[in-house]
Amino acid sequence: MNKKKVYKILGLFIAALLVLFLIVKLTNRVEEVSYNEFIEMVENKDVESVSLNVQSEKFKFSDLEGHLYKTDSPKTSDFKEFLLLNDIEVHVNTGMRSVSTFLRISSSFFMIVLLGAFIQRMGTGLKKKDSLVSIESKVTFKNIAGNEEAKEDMKFLVNFLKEPKKYNKIGAKLPKGVVLYGPPGTGKTLTARALAGEAKVPFFSINGSDFIELYAGLGAKRVRDLYKDAKKKAPSIVFIDEIDAVGTHRDGGPNDGEKNQTINALLSELDGFNTSEPVITIIATNRVEDLDRALIRPGRFDKHIAINLPDKEDRLKILRVHSKNKKISQEVNLETFANMTIGFSGAALETMMNEAAILAVNEGSEDIKVKHIDDAYYKMIIGGHKKKTRSDDLEEIKVVAYHEAGHALATKLLTDNEVPKVTIIPSTTGMGGATLSIPKKTGLLSKRDIVNNVKILYAGRAAEFILYNDEEEITTGASQDIKQATNLINNYFSSYGMSEEFGMLEVKDEKLYTKEAIRFSKKTYKEVLTLLQNNQDKLERIANELIEKETIDESRLDELI
Ligand code: ADP
Ligand code: MG
Ligand code: ZN
Repeated sequence: MNKKKVYKILGLFIAALLVLFLIVKLTNRVEEVSYNEFIEMVENKDVESVSLNVQSEKFKFSDLEGHLYKTDSPKTSDFKEFLLLNDIEVHVNTGMRSVSTFLRISSSFFMIVLLGAFIQRMGTGLKKKDSLVSIESKVTFKNIAGNEEAKEDMKFLVNFLKEPKKYNKIGAKLPKGVVLYGPPGTGKTLTARALAGEAKVPFFSINGSDFIELYAGLGAKRVRDLYKDAKKKAPSIVFIDEIDAVGTHRDGGPNDGEKNQTINALLSELDGFNTSEPVITIIATNRVEDLDRALIRPGRFDKHIAINLPDKEDRLKILRVHSKNKKISQEVNLETFANMTIGFSGAALETMMNEAAILAVNEGSEDIKVKHIDDAYYKMIIGGHKKKTRSDDLEEIKVVAYHEAGHALATKLLTDNEVPKVTIIPSTTGMGGATLSIPKKTGLLSKRDIVNNVKILYAGRAAEFILYNDEEEITTGASQDIKQATNLINNYFSSYGMSEEFGMLEVKDEKLYTKEAIRFSKKTYKEVLTLLQNNQDKLERIANELIEKETIDESRLDELI
């Protein structure tokens, strides 16, 4: 502690010296003027003294108020006489001396800088070992392009952190924990920092993996220390980034002991504090499903905010943000690249633009041209090999769009399920898009429900077939659908007692009903294919809209149908 203070004082002292030095330097700044201006000043009797330097292309002079100037030296033989005749003081320097003064000044300047930096470094090194420090985040929501829903969700937290009293008075409680979840690179870390920046509160940030590298028991201590500091500075934010390292289901691995202790410490902090100390904890994870159940119980991390991959419009915004500080050629149309980069995260888009800039420099180009971004794009999707062509991509998007349109249309035609969102933006796991479907009724499923669900699962493949009307063109995109449908069909025969062939018997051996299951599957597929063919205009409208907009919501879907 004592040592730390000494370093701090030394560091401050040297910083003060530096500032003084800079002030002296700045106030002594030499203004450069043209030779004509100089002559004008001489004629106005404004020049007091001139300092001539034989070896230099310039000379310095000062006016009556002591301001310094410099201008080009005429280097004529009668220049000194001209000055003297105008009542100007003349100093003549030899070049050598001025060089050495320069060296002396600049080397002492560097010494100070180096020493200052060194001592600063020692100081922060000590600090880090003792405890975490909060930072003031300068990032705000303006730095996040797109992600409007998440920002909207966060606004209420901003208000809460800004005026906790207003909420407390009425009895509203600040949520203790918020989970930011979504694919890597979508801006979760950025969003957490922006929340701190918007609310202007201290931000204590730590990474999940930091807990793992510590000695046994230190993870828990670190959590307690973290909250002790955070409470002192409340309202404040504790941010645990990439919590997956400690916060996933305990899996019997070597780190479980440490994980347990750390999580338990975190939970007891969360459960312990009351709302008069507005400390909000934010955790970020790629998959909320993998989090330890204890963490996401009500009253703990029960507010979940999704940070999704950007759609076309948001990708354009992100590309614009990351083009701002770059020299981009006139010929570049960022919209083209926003269209091409389906499935890219914000971080991937940033990397792509940076890669393009590097390619441009390597080629000696003055600015970033279409071909640079093109090459960066291909580099990103296939690790440097130009295998795919853009038309392949377009074909793939088309297939995915028809596939999802099939699921969505079948759901709408066969059930009264809500379909809040249909998208061709790939999900975290694997390729393809997604159709969200929420059944209105919960609980028991009827035989009709089972059959309809199989039809809806098959509708993706059926729509792919309709697109090309060619069995050879169907894709692997239906594999997950097939897996789920097979499950349903197996249960239909073996345990639900719904088939005519077996009645209400539990059929334990799969082989016994394989033939019937195949027949059932083929018949069901044909039925949904016919259904979609009879509604082909609707299918095409939905698919085309998906190709254009990538995501459509329920009200738009209803309009299209
Ligand atoms: P995550 O934590 O979700 O993995 P990050 O917040 O670390 O993602 O994002 C990495 C970088 O990608 C950010 O620092 C930012 O430069 C860029 N980025 C990601 N999403 C966006 C966005 N919506 N707008 C602007 N930049 C973004
Ligand atoms: Mg992150
Ligand atoms: Zn599907």
